Amino acid sequence: MGAEHHSKAFAPAPRADGRINLVGLSREELEATLTAAGLEKFRARQVWHWIYYRGVTDFAAMTTLAKPAREKLAEHFVVDRPVAVKDLQSEDGTRKWLCRFHDGQEVEAVHIPEEDRGTLCVSSQVGCTLTCRFCHTGTQLLVRNLRADEIVSQVMLARDALGEWPSPPEGRMLSNIVMMGMGEPLFNYDNVAKALKIVMDGEGIAISKRRITLSTSGVVPMMKRCGAELGVNLAVSLHAVNDELRSRIVPINRKYPLAELMEAVRTYPGLNNARRVTWEYVMLKGVNDSLADARELVRLIRGIPSKINLIPFNPWPGAPFECSDWSQIQRFSDFVNEAGYASPIRTPRGKDILAACGQLKSESQRPTASQRAAQMEVHKALAAEYAARVAEKEAALSLG
Ligand code: SAH
Ligand code: SF4
Repeated sequence: MGAEHHSKAFAPAPRADGRINLVGLSREELEATLTAAGLEKFRARQVWHWIYYRGVTDFAAMTTLAKPAREKLAEHFVVDRPVAVKDLQSEDGTRKWLCRFHDGQEVEAVHIPEEDRGTLCVSSQVGCTLTCRFCHTGTQLLVRNLRADEIVSQVMLARDALGEWPSPPEGRMLSNIVMMGMGEPLFNYDNVAKALKIVMDGEGIAISKRRITLSTSGVVPMMKRCGAELGVNLAVSLHAVNDELRSRIVPINRKYPLAELMEAVRTYPGLNNARRVTWEYVMLKGVNDSLADARELVRLIRGIPSKINLIPFNPWPGAPFECSDWSQIQRFSDFVNEAGYASPIRTPRGKDILAACGQLKSESQRPTASQRAAQMEVHKALAAEYAARVAEKEAALSLG
């Protein structure tokens, strides 16, 4: 299937005002869309540059284009952004935007600045069709896939807010992307793939595949395609080391049990010691956090280039779990570490703005005992505050 075939079949849906949003179109589609409106073919590359490299939303500002071309563009097209209905900044620098789309649906995007990078956690769906027992997104009733433009535009909205257009090649505030926000990206593969290809395009946003990580709960049949077509880093939400428990807390395991998941990871294209899979493992007190679990984990992943991301469970009201004690998380981490695998404990970031659902900071240094105790206190206090805020939000929702 060549680009030509693709572009012929393609007809983007206009908005209510009859204009077409240019964000989220592939290069071929952009070309086809512009030429269909009577613009020259070469305009596509110029427009691409203005949209994705410079971040311009107003055609009048696209000054390398002749005035009649700019006017024609403005007549037929828009460069759309979601509305940031909330823009919250945490004391630790984490920033969260609540992005509202045209149909009123909302998703979160979270920016986590670190010393050597800045990571944006991007959502792929409104809600999630899966129902992992510890995940708040899984309790949301409304679910729809995001379109490619809605996925790309989370990145663009963040760049707007960070004032990072055009984006420098080095020292970026937004240098990395994790598909770890709301939703299961491999259940919306086509839109996610299209969006990531736009994000990776070297003449635009230009974030390389090495700086993009996609997290899946284990949609086995889509994993190979993701690795082969996109070549992004893989993170897998493991959370349990036997089928009995995993089927209970990550229900997709009933469809794709551990043996199949392990095989899919083992054969994930491009996996090697320099590009390891990240196993995400949420620490649930008395459920999956014993040293026997740690031992089984190490056995399970033997031979697979791996790192393990231990995630302190982030509680929400009605959640049937508690977070493991810090000392137990530490013991678990030490065991896995001694077996030769990096097992950073994810330090909660942005808790004061409820920026907890996505990829949070990985802390590879081992904290001292007193740091751990202090951290635990902060963790407890923030967890209580978080629970209160979620309750507030839910009360507001049920009233509204
Ligand atoms: N659907 C994908 C990506 C989004 S979830 C997936 O499941 O991988 C991103 C990560 O956050 C997953 O590892 C998920 O298991 C984890 N997570 C969800 N709820 C959590 C909670 N309450 N506390 C800690 N981690 C959680
Ligand atoms: Fe969906 Fe991931 Fe939450 Fe599971 S953990 S319900 S797959 S968003």
